[in-house]
Amino acid sequence: MKELHTGELFWPTTLQSVQTYEPLSSPLQVDVAIVGGGMSGIICGLSLAEAGISAAVLERGTVAGGSSSANTGLLQFSNDIMLCDLIDQIGEGPAVQFYQACEEAVERFGQICGQLPRDVGFRNRSSLYYASSEQDLPKLKREFETLKRHGFDVEFWSPDDISSRFPFRRPGAILTRGDAEINPFRFIQTAAEHAVNAGLRIFEHTGITDQRRSTNSGGYVLTTDGGHEVNAKHVLFAVGYEPEELRGRLVKAELNRSFAAVTRIQSRSQLAQLWPERHMIWETARPYLYLRTTVDDRIVIGGLDEHTEHPIEGEKARHQRIRQLQDKLHALFPQLDSAFEYEWSATFGESCDNLPFIGEDPSMPGVYYSLGYGGNGSVYSIIASQIIRDSILGKLHPIAPIVALDRPSLLRI
Ligand SMILES: Cc1cc2nc3c(=O)[nH]c(=O)nc-3n(C[C@H](O)[C@H](O)[C@H](O)COP(=O)(O)OP(=O)(O)OC[C@H]3O[C@@H](n4cnc5c(N)ncnc54)[C@H](O)[C@@H]3O)c2cc1C
Repeated sequence: MKELHTGELFWPTTLQSVQTYEPLSSPLQVDVAIVGGGMSGIICGLSLAEAGISAAVLERGTVAGGSSSANTGLLQFSNDIMLCDLIDQIGEGPAVQFYQACEEAVERFGQICGQLPRDVGFRNRSSLYYASSEQDLPKLKREFETLKRHGFDVEFWSPDDISSRFPFRRPGAILTRGDAEINPFRFIQTAAEHAVNAGLRIFEHTGITDQRRSTNSGGYVLTTDGGHEVNAKHVLFAVGYEPEELRGRLVKAELNRSFAAVTRIQSRSQLAQLWPERHMIWETARPYLYLRTTVDDRIVIGGLDEHTEHPIEGEKARHQRIRQLQDKLHALFPQLDSAFEYEWSATFGESCDNLPFIGEDPSMPGVYYSLGYGGNGSVYSIIASQIIRDSILGKLHPIAPIVALDRPSLLRI
């Protein structure tokens, strides 16, 4: 099993009692077998269960135990690739459609959270996307004009606008409205319970070790590490950064490692004074630094991506990187407490064309992937849940061709 994160994660400490699910202990027949119980598998499972489709999640470890619990929980419609660059890459119509789908996906998170029986830390927030240097300013202005022209709710802030609201000054920034933050662990755990009530079945400690075509049903037979068989008409792989066998064939992506940390609880009055609207903050530099607050008044900060796929081993090396995050936080908010209580390193996947991999395997009808590579992985999980549900119901979702595994932008790479 791939190690996806090292260090001490924050989110799992915020839920005292976690629902557990029994491993699969007998043969199973379902319409859709979902391999992986992270953000993607659970959201897809919920969407299928709500559509009345029989589905089961088969998770090798525990629900939300993979990359999803290392996720920093920013839900943004702006992507790692700016809209103006995406337009150059795939054309204006599809690029704008994709950005709109991301905006709707953030809204959809809000709707799902509204139905959940506990607070999962979902809060509507605006984002501040600042120019890291004067050189980045013309590009940021071009992005602002593009977003504005296509109806996104954005403002451009001058250095004075920024310094009148924050203790720091930058050459310029786009303010985007319509984003949100979430506690990913509480969300996935609670959404899983909600999905089970809607009819989804979940099996933990149930790894899939083999897959073959069924000779009589036309579907697939999966074998679990416990030696049981799962017969399914459709199989969805929501395995995060782990589909080794697909890399290079369908999944053209780079696996890097990233770092994140969470401070001690801040003084609420000081936060109200220095960061009143609790914008999520990020920047134009690559790799980018990003920050947000939590409902219990901490600061989450992440970044410093490195071109190595394995999360960093050894406390000393991790502390070294984390100290850089601390310096960056202190430089932005010198009056806030920059001591960290939690810090981790995690594998992070980015596709070669900055779009997720969602849809049916072109060479295996009935086998689907939901691989939300990139900084908007959670938002992509929502889009995947809609595309895959529609596909299983025989409908083509308008975003499907943009993120398909055999899309033209990927074939050109
Ligand atoms: C540091 C960091 C910060 C991030 N911040 C953000 C953010 O702010 N906003 C955002 O939108 N996204 C963010 N992301 C991305 C986001 O975390 C991922 O896109 C998302 O969590 C992926 O979810 P997943 O369900 O695809 O993968 P995972 O959560 O990894 O789930 C996959 C699951 O599949 C299981 N599995 C694998 N193989 C098998 C098998 N053979 N049989 C059974 N089970 C199997 C694994 O055990 C695992 O639990 C961040 C990622 C990292 C690492």
